[in-house]
Amino acid sequence: CGIVGIVGRNAVAGQVIDALRRLEYRGYDSAGIATLEDGRLERRRAEGKLSNLQLKLVQSPLSGAIGIGHTRWATHGRPNETNAHPHATPRLAVVHNGIIENFRELKAELQAQGCVFETETDTEVVAQLVSRGMDQQLSPREAVAAALPRLRGAFALAFLFAGEEDFLIGARHGAPLAIGFGEGETYLGSDALALAPFTDEITYLEEGDWTVLTRAGAEIRDQAGTLVARPRQRIATQS
Ligand code: GLU
Repeated sequence: CGIVGIVGRNAVAGQVIDALRRLEYRGYDSAGIATLEDGRLERRRAEGKLSNLQLKLVQSPLSGAIGIGHTRWATHGRPNETNAHPHATPRLAVVHNGIIENFRELKAELQAQGCVFETETDTEVVAQLVSRGMDQQLSPREAVAAALPRLRGAFALAFLFAGEEDFLIGARHGAPLAIGFGEGETYLGSDALALAPFTDEITYLEEGDWTVLTRAGAEIRDQAGTLVARPRQRIATQS
């Protein structure tokens, strides 16, 4: 329902929560965050309100300077902690808005190859599919580029990779995703409103675009894999 990603300079967990709070109006049933702690993927997830997630972060804080966050409006799988995003494999974590319509076929295919699923969500097939590509020696970028054309439905995605402190990958296919540009920090948000506390410089991904975000900016490619330029816009900042 709500997606946030930050490639930051300092611990990002607080900013991720602030940004998710701006998306509260959409409604949600659970929330979660993943960061890299010394290159290791760490997640905190909670059923219910963002304050439940915040409580978990107080009890076991995250200090990573790169991370993704999500508020979920369950479409496939009960609204519990196991099904809360981010979904993860040892290689990556992913947050997702929307629906992967062909997840049952993909899940069956991956299970036949030995993948073991932990959740009831459509989203987990995305995590497993990209992970599987990386098992077959694809880089994170190549694995995402190979997985995206296999997904049907309307969705936006953000990926965080174990051991990759310097970039996030985002993709837009039928659900909006915006990039925000800060001072040595770059952001992803399903709504530019979520990024308003951090920056007023926004680029909206266009249909089929995907992006590699670094602290220096964003490389955007279209569905065919061609590098493209998308306009920067100014939005009203909010304190
Ligand atoms: N279909 C996904 C799920 O049920 C994502 C739902 C959403 O957009 O929050 O977990």
